[in-house]
Amino acid sequence: MDLGISGRRAIVCAASKGLGRASAMALAREGVIVTITGRNEDVLTRTAAEIAAETGMTVHQAPGDIATEAGRAAALAACPEPDILINNAGGPPPGDFRDWEREDWIRALDANMLAPIAMMKAVVDGMIGRRFGRIVNITSASVRSPIPTLGMSNGARAGLTGFVGGLSRQVARHNVTINNLLPGPFLTDRLKTTAAGAAKEAGRSVEEELEVRAKQHPAGRFGDPEEFGQACAFLCAASSGYIVGQNVLLDGGGFNATM
Ligand code: NAP
Repeated sequence: MDLGISGRRAIVCAASKGLGRASAMALAREGVIVTITGRNEDVLTRTAAEIAAETGMTVHQAPGDIATEAGRAAALAACPEPDILINNAGGPPPGDFRDWEREDWIRALDANMLAPIAMMKAVVDGMIGRRFGRIVNITSASVRSPIPTLGMSNGARAGLTGFVGGLSRQVARHNVTINNLLPGPFLTDRLKTTAAGAAKEAGRSVEEELEVRAKQHPAGRFGDPEEFGQACAFLCAASSGYIVGQNVLLDGGGFNATM
């Protein structure tokens, strides 16, 4: 299926690893010129080279922390007029809310709510002017079904989701779509990190913990980041202009509900 976005330009935030990387790879395979961001410059450079080698596309990189003004300015300097924006950042740490101070919450809000809003603010009027824009926010299945130990993630992402619900309806008539993609458990570094606490409590290794979880999952496995990337690229297709303000759950059936 040709997504009709060859030659388009994209910023993919937090894309040196995991779901962001897979999204950048899938877009580049469609002929999109991607700019990827990440804090660790070495890892970012390696990933940019891998995407370029696999797809034959030019890949730009903008090292920096997307939760900061400087990080966002670097991304926008590398790609001032993106047609596609994939918002992403590392998720907040797990824990007990009694231990979290205001600064912890501000960090979570900065990364998982305010940074994507700032990026949308920076690019949305250009997209409206050019009459094409596709924005996908990588959030979490926890928006539909809260994960008790990830309280800061549950909270910050719910704030972003509420904002997007309104903004997406204000820009849809200009062929600018904004949707959220909600990952369930995908096999990335993040999954291993968040499983560590539960593994310790259960007295098993992280590998054993992951094996148990995968077996319990309706799909009998975790998601492959590649599957995530392809779904993300689909939301960015030229023909996806009528998918607006949706929260697309990509969890292999993990959320148990009839509808
Ligand atoms: P990951 O494998 O740990 O990769 C995170 C990527 O983001 C890395 O490239 C990292 O590079 C970059 N990054 C993190 N914070 C950044 C920042 N402030 N500025 C710029 N780059 C940043 O994580 P993932 O599994 O792909 O997760 C992506 C998002 O989806 C996270 O918010 C996560 O909470 C959420 N999520 C994941 C799952 C899952 O099962 N994997 C499920 C639900 C939700 P640097 O560290 O070098 O910056």
